[in-house]
Amino acid sequence: MLFQRCKNSVSHHLIAGLLVMLMPAASLAEAGNTQSKTLVASQLVSQLAEDENVEDVVHSEPRRSKAKRIENAGSESEEAPESATVTEKPAEASVATPREIAPNVDLKEVAPMPEPTPETDTAVETEGLAVEQAEPATEAKPDIVEKQPVPSETFVLLGKEVLPGTSTRLAWSPKIQIAGLSQTTPVLVVNGAHTGPTLCLTGAIHGDELNGIEIVRRTMYDLNPDKLSGRVIGVPIVNLSGFQQGSRYLPDRRDLNRHFPGSPDGSLADRIAYSLFTDVISHCDMLVDIHTGSLKRTNLPQLRADMNNPDVSVFTQGFDRMAVVHSSGSPGMLRSAAVEAGIRAVTLEAGESLRIQEHQIKAGVNSLNSLMERHQMISRMFVWGDPEPIYYDSIWIRAEHGGILFSDVGLGDNVSKGEILGYVSDPITNEQHPIRSDANGRVIGMAVDQVVMAGFAAYHIGTEAEIPGE
Ligand SMILES: [Zn+2]
Repeated sequence: MLFQRCKNSVSHHLIAGLLVMLMPAASLAEAGNTQSKTLVASQLVSQLAEDENVEDVVHSEPRRSKAKRIENAGSESEEAPESATVTEKPAEASVATPREIAPNVDLKEVAPMPEPTPETDTAVETEGLAVEQAEPATEAKPDIVEKQPVPSETFVLLGKEVLPGTSTRLAWSPKIQIAGLSQTTPVLVVNGAHTGPTLCLTGAIHGDELNGIEIVRRTMYDLNPDKLSGRVIGVPIVNLSGFQQGSRYLPDRRDLNRHFPGSPDGSLADRIAYSLFTDVISHCDMLVDIHTGSLKRTNLPQLRADMNNPDVSVFTQGFDRMAVVHSSGSPGMLRSAAVEAGIRAVTLEAGESLRIQEHQIKAGVNSLNSLMERHQMISRMFVWGDPEPIYYDSIWIRAEHGGILFSDVGLGDNVSKGEILGYVSDPITNEQHPIRSDANGRVIGMAVDQVVMAGFAAYHIGTEAEIPGE
């Protein structure tokens, strides 16, 4: 019966599968010049790469026992009693030059098209080009700016002053492009009327991960600056060039999320990372870096958090109905670098790349709202009780054979040890290779049906772990 089902699905999918496998070869033949050949080849290689989705968990330090964590918490809190506050406040010592006040913009309203920088400065035409580009392109509109005495809670970011109780759009530029062609990355800021922590949200560090862009938009645009305590900084599309090309990577084919906190004189990726980290991230008390599954893998909405870090562990408790997967993080990841700098940080994973998924976006926005509520930044109506995240340890289960993957389970399904999760079918020999679960747990991430090779990480199984502090 089972075999019959598989046989049918093979005959159905055999042609499609072969087409998929042949496609790169076909486009390679089509490509007339070597440049396109290189491009196609490098795309193939990059698709076989594993990202934090897999790597992060596979190479993670195991979760430490509760006793160990408490011991650690003790020793760390002695050194840094207020580790929540950012240790370094860069470049604010040089406050000599007066800063421009950022325009108060209702983020719910549609933004005007960015205007070209006015060419009224006739004095320095030649060297002026470079100087002009050094400034963010979206300048404060003089007619909107109200000159006011600067209140104490004015927030300075990217060379602009954001007054309390206002929201605005700023522009960040890592200055790595040809100056005249430079494109700035929008940074949304809501500076609340009341004091509180600074929460940062970053999306699309991998340019093809779209759900995060929408999660940042909805979260930011729902905020009322008059009612907010603290600040929220949102960078919806960090990797703008990747986003424009539908690519996960930077133009130099590097993964930006392996280069934080970056360096001012390193590679392209190092410089972009350094610029973002210094100009924006270092101002945050809390950071949620939003990603999706990659390379045709999809994720249940979940946090990746270093549960061995007491501050991070406490931080995760604010995210309602979110799966929390322990992972110590890889060097160069934004969240690792942020934690290192004393910022409480997690990665939020939701859905798959190159798609906009309503369900996943809603879960992300809801969880961020519960986080802000938990930190008394906003107050929501109809919230009952404390947020309830669910904690998991996890393993990845890999395909042992190459072929076409067909799943029998779906995202969020509960599975038991030994249960068949899916099959890899060999389109040439007609062999069917079942993939079985190694544990009782829940499918918190999985590959979508596709052509795989042996060793491909296909199913991410989460097993419920103890709730921290209990
Ligand atoms: Zn990502």
